[in-house]
Amino acid sequence: MTETIPRPRPQGSQAAPATPGTLICAPLRIEARAVRRGLEAAGEHSANPPEVRRTGYGTTRAARVAGQLSHEPFGQMMIMGVGGGLSTDLSPGDLVVGTGVGAVTCASAPILAGELRRAGLPARTGRITTVDHLVRRSQRAKLAAEGWLVADMESAPLAAAAAGRPVAVIRAVSDTPHHPLAGIVSGGLAALHSLRAAAPVAQRWAAACGTRQVLLAGPRSFCAGVERAIEIVERVLERQGPPVYVRKQIVHNTRVVGGLESRGAVFVDELDQVPDGATVVFSAHGVSPMVREEAARRGLAVIDATCPLVSKVHAEARRFAADGYTVALIGHAGHEEVEGTLGEAPGSTVLVQTAADVAALRPRDGERVAYLMQTTLSVDEAAEVAGALRERFPAVRAPGSDDICYATTNRQVAVRAVAAESDLVLVAGSANSSNSVRLVETCERAGTPAYLIDGAEDIQLDWLAGVSTIGLTAGASAPPAVVEEIISALSGLGGVSVSERVTTTESIRFGLPKEVRR
Ligand code: SF4
Repeated sequence: MTETIPRPRPQGSQAAPATPGTLICAPLRIEARAVRRGLEAAGEHSANPPEVRRTGYGTTRAARVAGQLSHEPFGQMMIMGVGGGLSTDLSPGDLVVGTGVGAVTCASAPILAGELRRAGLPARTGRITTVDHLVRRSQRAKLAAEGWLVADMESAPLAAAAAGRPVAVIRAVSDTPHHPLAGIVSGGLAALHSLRAAAPVAQRWAAACGTRQVLLAGPRSFCAGVERAIEIVERVLERQGPPVYVRKQIVHNTRVVGGLESRGAVFVDELDQVPDGATVVFSAHGVSPMVREEAARRGLAVIDATCPLVSKVHAEARRFAADGYTVALIGHAGHEEVEGTLGEAPGSTVLVQTAADVAALRPRDGERVAYLMQTTLSVDEAAEVAGALRERFPAVRAPGSDDICYATTNRQVAVRAVAAESDLVLVAGSANSSNSVRLVETCERAGTPAYLIDGAEDIQLDWLAGVSTIGLTAGASAPPAVVEEIISALSGLGGVSVSERVTTTESIRFGLPKEVRR
């Protein structure tokens, strides 16, 4: 699959110069001065530093300048100035990065806002409207109700002059509904201070602009166990209404958990946080028998979203232990799945994380050792530990079929394929997602830098400078929409051509527990 998100050339323009520069438009003299000082203070030297141009106050001047700019051969445009806050939760000095202004979409806004926040600045994304007069109190509420976050008097015509080239808008809030124009002096100072502090980030944004290829790993994103677990919570919410208690995160992804929380799911660490008699959902990672017993003792109605492939490992642990084996569980300490599996046969199961742990293992009977694996391990890493077990205990029993699940294996194979062709790989997933972290490690082992990101806002601009091919995948718990969001944000830095490398296709589906079947 190849899809190109084009970066149209400006109408009537000539071919771009070899190293097209960055134009920072600042309408007022004091705004241009704040930006210049911010660039100077940062002391960042570039062979092609941005040009900061004062473009004049108000829509009429902005439109006149825009008419000239559209014929200029700059590579990317940043608009920086102060603006009037429309939302009541804004404060003077807050930075608003425009997701769109007028008819122009500023797709890189999430990346830019994330970079500003990492620089310690109060930044958020939102829609910016350009008006031809100062906004008074009653009009603020009306514009806010229409979904605008900030009003200014120049951005829309200036952004249109970018004519398809990368464009971003940063407006520092000078006045708000609670600090209206009467307080504009103190608010204006706070805004100029933020604008100055944002200037080095604007320069990094410019350095990250450029056309790129994105290679998508296939398969990626949700597996059958995660889809099933999410559907279980959604169905319980539909049937019983909120609150619906879920022990631990249903799957290890902040977006998924946040989305379900907003619909009434309540995630708890332990069952003592669940009221007597309530319904509780067990997460996809599984629980130990002790947790099930406690739920029964408390009279809780349990709906089990444990992935069937995790349940399979639990059953193997019980079977080996019943046959008198010492079970070496290859996995990571503290992971919920590991805790659940260890709890199935606590007297017979020992966690081994490394070959050194294997050397230290003291089984009851060296002829009766078996091993099992956490489902989301790195295939290579687990093979090393399993090899050490086979070497030390030649009669060691292996699981009947692979414990590392199909989804983990498939995503590692797929990401290895794109890593081989990429300058860097972005892995969508949360920090506590084991299979997502393993994808990063798989790339690094293949010699390609890789970064774990929850979303586009976590992309650091320095990663992208000079990078022309980006591999992109998502862990088994990361929603497909995040991948789309990342591609869209990258396209705001320049044209992006998207291709997919499919190493296998998946068709596995798991049935739902009887409590939520329709
Ligand atoms: S990653 Fe594997 S074990 Fe975990 S939920 Fe998905 S299919 Fe199940």
